[in-house]
Amino acid sequence: MTSNADNLNSAAGGPRINLLGLTLRQMEQFFLDLGEKKFRAQQVLKWIHHQGVTDFDEMTNLGRGLRETLSAVAEVRPPEIVSQHDSSDGTRKWLIRVEGGGLVETVLIPDGGRATLCVSSQVGCSLDCSFCSTGKQGFQRDLTAAEIIGQVWLAIKSYDAFQAGKGRVVTNVVMMGMGEPLLNFDNVVAAMDLMMEDLAYGISKRRVTLSTSGVVPALDRLARVSEASLAISLHAPNDALRNELVPINRKYPIAMLLESARNYIAAQSDTKRVVTVEYTLIAGVNDQPEHARELAVLLRDFPCKINLIPFNTFAQSDYRRPSGNAVSRFWQVLVDAGYIVTVRTTRGDDISAACGQLVGQVVDRTRRSERYRAAGADNIIQVG
Ligand code: SAH
Ligand code: SF4
Repeated sequence: MTSNADNLNSAAGGPRINLLGLTLRQMEQFFLDLGEKKFRAQQVLKWIHHQGVTDFDEMTNLGRGLRETLSAVAEVRPPEIVSQHDSSDGTRKWLIRVEGGGLVETVLIPDGGRATLCVSSQVGCSLDCSFCSTGKQGFQRDLTAAEIIGQVWLAIKSYDAFQAGKGRVVTNVVMMGMGEPLLNFDNVVAAMDLMMEDLAYGISKRRVTLSTSGVVPALDRLARVSEASLAISLHAPNDALRNELVPINRKYPIAMLLESARNYIAAQSDTKRVVTVEYTLIAGVNDQPEHARELAVLLRDFPCKINLIPFNTFAQSDYRRPSGNAVSRFWQVLVDAGYIVTVRTTRGDDISAACGQLVGQVVDRTRRSERYRAAGADNIIQVG
């Protein structure tokens, strides 16, 4: 990542390195490369992530000379907010423009004493799950670590809450915005590292959750480097149905995914952990009592809790949201089988912040969306 060559390049007028996305270790290396003491990394991390400071001149415990050097070779640049929307239920959503023009969304969902930030990892997604509006946009690019952690930074900044004494604006983070986090492995791991790092956001590892549709080799790798909580997007109790809903299942079928997820939590030092199994309920597709019974058998002996997500509709999809009765029936079968089951309530309805339909009006130019447009959809894509 940061090397002498990069720094020389920056000093010579090349692109400045964005310190917002550097982990403690990377920041230490950056200062060593500059010929500075390692402890500067701790000071700068605190300025950026505890105080919300982006201007090196305000970092008063650094000497004038070092501040000047930093201004020449580095910057602290959060992504740009295009718009902010507040829902009557307290949910706040930001539309963010990243370099190159891509748009992503971030949503903060307050709930009692908690506030969960839903963070994006990619512009679009390559995996094309049949019920997901992000998938319909195709893949544009990975977010950088700075653009991922920048979403946390922006959320806190928007409440003017960096200075101590205002309570925590973000208590939990879920990597459940746009994109497949395990396909942007290094940047997501670095950003989650900063979320959990005491010199940055200090959020407990149980409260930082990575959600994946099942990129098994990357999940195996994650077990060796991360202690974050894990959610898997299952959505079907058998491979035939999951192949239709989550195409990556053809490559990494359910048994492989469950084994990898089991190994992930077995690798954690904290033994009481479970995997969150996400199951989007789609009317007439995967929401029948027999699906619930099959799921109950499939997950027998698998350490998990189950989160049911009634499908959120969007323009390019013919799928429907199940009735409240269908959701209750499904829930009851699983509860009777002894599972802990939650149903995700829709929040921020008035600002389209619900999962899978985060804002509309993103005009995108990918080939996949052209395909959908050719098939009759308009060019207003909902992001999710
Ligand atoms: N790519 C990752 C994380 C982002 S999607 C993953 O698939 O897990 C986050 C969650 O939202 C996933 O469980 C996904 O299946 C769900 N989701 C996507 N579109 C949805 C929709 N239209 N309605 C309900 N849930 C949806
Ligand atoms: Fe990508 Fe997740 Fe959407 Fe599937 S559900 S297309 S993996 S963002």
